Amino acid sequence: MITRRNFLRSALAGAAGLALPITALELLGPRRLRAERYDSSGVRWVFLVDTYKCVGCGLCVKACKQENEIPYDANVTRTWVERYVLTRDNRLFADSPKGARDGFITSRIDLGQGRYQDIKKEDIKKAFFVPKLCNQCENPPCVQVCPVGATYQAADGVVLVDRKWCIGCGYCIMACPYGVRFFHPNYHVAEKCNFCYHRITRGMKSACVDACPFGARQIGNIKDPDDPVTKVIMTERVAVLKEEYGTKPQVYYLGLSKEVR
Ligand code: SF4
Ligand code: SF4
Repeated sequence: MITRRNFLRSALAGAAGLALPITALELLGPRRLRAERYDSSGVRWVFLVDTYKCVGCGLCVKACKQENEIPYDANVTRTWVERYVLTRDNRLFADSPKGARDGFITSRIDLGQGRYQDIKKEDIKKAFFVPKLCNQCENPPCVQVCPVGATYQAADGVVLVDRKWCIGCGYCIMACPYGVRFFHPNYHVAEKCNFCYHRITRGMKSACVDACPFGARQIGNIKDPDDPVTKVIMTERVAVLKEEYGTKPQVYYLGLSKEVR
């Protein structure tokens, strides 16, 4: 006689016999395996920009666009480089044509709308380049305003955007005080730098870090006292952008000039 218990047992065994291979396939799939190997406990990703080393070549911008499916010729980019020129009579100019994708190929300052400013070499007091990207803020206003939770902060501090959940309302774009967010021209959802999350969670560096021939960009784990980036942040004079906003940016700058906006 088949008891209820035996029936349930054989039904479960049958179901397991059918279901296991499918579940096992999913569990052992390469994407799942890689994701499971990444343990975010003990990790807080931070970024270090050394403005003394940046020459404005734009290789980081090119690499980022290619790595992250940002249309090459669209006037949007996850990271960009700004050029600042301060003249001897204290006029400040800043530009970033195409986000510096092609570097700064002319000494003329691009004022926008087809206007340019020529500055003679002898009139320059100082000039420098400043790479910019999402600051992966500790207190991210972009996360606070998202009405559907499509932008959120991972346990390792990186602020992510779920393209499938984003409804394209643009609140996060307005809320970010650093202007790092934009609408993806093809996907029509909010877009921004995520430190190349798909790479850093697999033991690689962000694409821009790998692309920079001068070591102006570095990524590290601030929770690891032996990480070279942590050592610099802890021992050298570093600065963050717009500290007064209370967002606690996690992109640190070496040699950040007071003129930088
Ligand atoms: S820089 Fe802007 S987009 Fe990035 S975490 Fe901060 S507020 Fe959000
Ligand atoms: S690749 Fe390096 S040096 Fe070139 S613009 Fe980017 S940060 Fe600056």
